[in-house]
Amino acid sequence: MHELSIAENIIEIVKETLASSGGGKLRSVKVRLGELAGVVPDSLDFCFTAITKGTPMEEAKLEIERTAIIAHCTGCGKDSTVEGLIFKCPLCESVNVGVISGNELQVVEIEIDGLERN
Ligand SMILES: [Zn+2]
Repeated sequence: MHELSIAENIIEIVKETLASSGGGKLRSVKVRLGELAGVVPDSLDFCFTAITKGTPMEEAKLEIERTAIIAHCTGCGKDSTVEGLIFKCPLCESVNVGVISGNELQVVEIEIDGLERN
């Protein structure tokens, strides 16, 4: 299960942050997830809950921020949000587009005992 290893990775990052900040209790962790990352948010949330159950992180909340797919068009030189998996510029219909955003999978914020950390 893909999402399980991702959830484990997120927890590793959280543990490192907790260790370097001298402990504390995890309140929430926010991840940025691009639509192209191939991760099902509900599944990731489920795995996170399953792994943290019975640990000090049990009550922590996983927040998932979805990011849209943004493509750069070499035809008209503009960046646009691409809907679905049709890689075509919505402005000039050119297919000469390159994805510049949408693959993100990163921890963007870890909140410990009310302290925000980036
Ligand atoms: Zn275009």
